[in-house]
Amino acid sequence: MKETTKAIRIQTERSQHKEHSTPLFLTSSFTFEDAGEGQALFNNEIEGNIYSRYSNPSVQEFIDKVCMMEGMEAGFATASGMAAVFAGFAAHLKSGDHLVASNALFGSAHQIITQILTKWGITYTYLDSSASEEEWEAAIQENTKMVYLETPSNPGLALVDLEMIGRVAKKHNLIYYVDNCFATPIIQKPGEFGANLIVHSATKFMDGQGRVMGGIICGTEEMMEPIVFFCRHTGPAMSPFNAWVLSKSLETIYLRMERHCSNAEKLANALQGLKGVKTVNYPFLDSHPQVELAKKQMKSGGALVTFDLEGGFERIIRFTKLLKIPSKTSNLGDSRTTITNPNTTTHSKVAQDLKDVLGITQGLMRVSVGLEDIDDLIEDFTQAIEGSV
Ligand SMILES: *Cc1c(COP(=O)(O)O)cnc(C)c1O
Repeated sequence: MKETTKAIRIQTERSQHKEHSTPLFLTSSFTFEDAGEGQALFNNEIEGNIYSRYSNPSVQEFIDKVCMMEGMEAGFATASGMAAVFAGFAAHLKSGDHLVASNALFGSAHQIITQILTKWGITYTYLDSSASEEEWEAAIQENTKMVYLETPSNPGLALVDLEMIGRVAKKHNLIYYVDNCFATPIIQKPGEFGANLIVHSATKFMDGQGRVMGGIICGTEEMMEPIVFFCRHTGPAMSPFNAWVLSKSLETIYLRMERHCSNAEKLANALQGLKGVKTVNYPFLDSHPQVELAKKQMKSGGALVTFDLEGGFERIIRFTKLLKIPSKTSNLGDSRTTITNPNTTTHSKVAQDLKDVLGITQGLMRVSVGLEDIDDLIEDFTQAIEGSV
């Protein structure tokens, strides 16, 4: 079966009621036939569910689908994307280890790497996403354990060459850990380039409708084993209800991403040349500095578009007041188009020198293009940009 069929047809076994929709196992624990079965389950002599902090059939259905989509062997679903990102670091790194990471990362990932891991004696080196293979090589130390990156990045939409990092990680026997949230496995599969750990904020395109929080980390059996151990005993488990919602959403993700991406590409094209729009950033635009790389490792340009609006923060206030359709909110990956000014919201706590490197200017607007009619969106953006001059 093809991926799109499996994303719809992978389903928890039906109960005795033969329900059509997948059942929701809203339970904290599972029962044993007798004390002997309980003992065998706890001894891992037989497989089965014990307690929903460990595993739950509704959560497992969601994990099975994402592993199928990413081509990975095992996974663990968490209450939020950040819990999954953190579990990947915490389960694999120990005091004295070194991490090499791209500097174009989600805000909270920066906080973990610079404020939390450092407390435990885990050091790091940041590299620009455009750094060459030689520069990545040069950053690797004897105690380097892991390479971590996000591509395309939030909000700069900078790309990292997945194949090149795959070579470096293999050569130095490093854990190759990728946040694939912006692209989704529909558009990009880091595993094809050697990544052995992949993380997602399921809150974004996987849910796709801004309803529930969730995260998932998946990888090879070997990479996942310490993570499953870490998660089972520290307790970031996803709620079965959220997993049920998210698994349903994965039935439509292929269709949704197609429309998200075609809308985004059309909006990016339309924004170019509007009055006061300095630069438009979209991985599949010819003007994107890494367009060739984008076309090599991504099936389409994704759903995020950024642009730089001239005229200072006052202009941004006027523009967002005039804009009627998009929701002004910091979330993304919704069927509804959302827009935010990263400098004053999602990335307001990033140090100014890093903001400069990442292109987070005062006028930068980040748009997560939704599923509305594209003509309505283009008309709305045009009137709000032109009317706010
Ligand atoms: C939102 C996001 C996260 C964090 O996910 P939460 O579900 O909000 O915890 C991590 N990485 C990227 C790229 C994101 O956009």
